[in-house]
Amino acid sequence: MEFRSANAFRGHRILSATDELSRARTYGSGRVCAVPGCGTLLSAYNPSDVCALHSGAWHDESHQATRKLTQREELTRRCAFEPCSREFTTTNPAKKYCSDACRMRAFQARVTAARHLGDAAVRQERRAS
Ligand SMILES: [Zn+2]
Ligand SMILES: [Zn+2]
Repeated sequence: MEFRSANAFRGHRILSATDELSRARTYGSGRVCAVPGCGTLLSAYNPSDVCALHSGAWHDESHQATRKLTQREELTRRCAFEPCSREFTTTNPAKKYCSDACRMRAFQARVTAARHLGDAAVRQERRAS
C-alpha cells in the first residue's frame, strides 16, 4: 500500500516536471527575422520565423503571390516564328516562340529582313516587339 502511493507520487512529480519543461520551452534564441534584409532579432517565445512587423507583411505578400499565380495560368500560344507556327503552352504571357531556337531564328530572320529594308524598318520592328 505504501509502495503504491509512493509510486503514484513519483509519477505525479515526473508529470509536473515535464509540464514545466514544455512550458519553459522556447523556440531558440539568437534567431533573426527570415525576411531578407530585416535582421530583427526574434524573441525566443516567437513561434514564427519572422518578426512581428513582417508576420503581417508576410501574409499580404503571400496573398499577392497567390493572386499573381492564378493570373499566370497556362496559355496555349502559337509560335510567332511563322515557318514553325507550332502550338505551345507557357505561363509567361510575353513568350512568343515555342523555343529558344525559334526565337533565335526569328531574330535572325528579322535581322536579315532589316538588312534589305533598311534601318527605319529595324527601328519600327523594335518598337513593335
Ligand atoms: Zn522582419
Ligand atoms: Zn517554334
